[in-house]
Amino acid sequence: MSQKILVVEDSRAFRNYLEQQLSQAGFEVLAAESIEQANKILQHEHHLLCAVLDYCLPDGQDGEIIDIVLNHDHKVIVLTAMFQEEIREKMLAKGVLDYILKDSMASVSYLLPLVKRLTNNQKHKALVVDDSAVVRKHITQLLEHQYISVLQAKNGIEGQKVLSENSDITFIISDHDMPEKDGITMIREIRTDYDKNQLAILGLSGSDDRTMTARFLKAGANDFLYKPFNQEEFFCRVHQILDMKEATNELFRMANQDALTGLWNRRFLFNQVCNGCEKRNIAMLDIDHFKKVNDTYGHDGGDAALKTLSSILKIYFEDDVVVRFGGEEFCIQSCAPIQEFTNRLEIMRQRVEKTTITHNEQQLSITISIGVTDIEGDLNEQIKVADDRLYLAKENGRNQIVSVG
Ligand code: GH3
Ligand code: MG
Ligand code: MG
Repeated sequence: MSQKILVVEDSRAFRNYLEQQLSQAGFEVLAAESIEQANKILQHEHHLLCAVLDYCLPDGQDGEIIDIVLNHDHKVIVLTAMFQEEIREKMLAKGVLDYILKDSMASVSYLLPLVKRLTNNQKHKALVVDDSAVVRKHITQLLEHQYISVLQAKNGIEGQKVLSENSDITFIISDHDMPEKDGITMIREIRTDYDKNQLAILGLSGSDDRTMTARFLKAGANDFLYKPFNQEEFFCRVHQILDMKEATNELFRMANQDALTGLWNRRFLFNQVCNGCEKRNIAMLDIDHFKKVNDTYGHDGGDAALKTLSSILKIYFEDDVVVRFGGEEFCIQSCAPIQEFTNRLEIMRQRVEKTTITHNEQQLSITISIGVTDIEGDLNEQIKVADDRLYLAKENGRNQIVSVG
């Protein structure tokens, strides 16, 4: 569902431009040119991602619209044609998210990343570690105000405990001086399990020791700020950390995921470490006579078959590593007992055989051949054995599993 943004701006050119830019970015825009119009919208729209407000409107030239929208409990970004230190301070004190200097159309280039950031923030969970309840509360409020959910801990030991119990924490903001375990020690320990891309860390310290920045960064923090900090700087740092984390995750996904089917690719299979299982099984799967599917139904028909098979594999092997190995060949790595794994492969094979794939109002179906092994050996050796067995399955007439050979 697209998120709604209220835009109140009396300049038609600027309003249209904002509306066009925000709509293109996937937001639903509710536009108003005056306080009167905005009030009508606010009466029935209760769920807004945020409101972008012109400071000076014909029916309120001194930022009146800001209080009105804030009183409806919405997040506010202010557009202002003039930069006055006093106005800026006053707006930030009221709880405005940010302000944008409306000096040119180009100023929108700052607004778009900001509203996208707000949308993405909803996927983040922060852990705030500080022994001062006042600081914890302050930082929590700042983050929650930008849709980031927050957990708290009052020292390094508690921080690590909360982290181990909440695998959805995406970043940590930590103080240094705390009883029981300090921030730098905690970060150093956390970094043995989580790298900078898995978990972003912002260090904070009220100490006047100027070596603090380097100590935090060397221990593995992504960034550092001295307390007390300027609120705008705090958000710039948090946004930068989260932008970086999201971009790195996206790069990882692009490098390791197959674009057509969404399955992992070969690179992922060879880079992952299979740990915690006694014996690893490998199955190699190949669609039978796939060339004929392409020849009969076209390349798109073939692609539809690949996608359907991939979604079946995801359902049947959700706890395992399912990989598109190449063209119409797939590999599954599973740590389940071999008999259980083979049984599930057989049930899945039958399901594939019975599944009708609809493409361009035509119906088609496919069968698959499978080779499976649990021999001792490295991944390459296991794949070789499973592949040899897959070949046997093809020789024996296709649409079957071979698990010995
Ligand atoms: P066999 O039963 O022996 O496996 O025969 P086959 O026809 O499935 O095997 P073959 O290796 O001769 O042909 C595989 C075909 O898969 C050839 C190739 O064009 C097609 N293919 C590979 N990748 C894709 C893809 O991404 N989309 C489509 N539609 N076809 C693909
Ligand atoms: Mg105006
Ligand atoms: Mg094939």
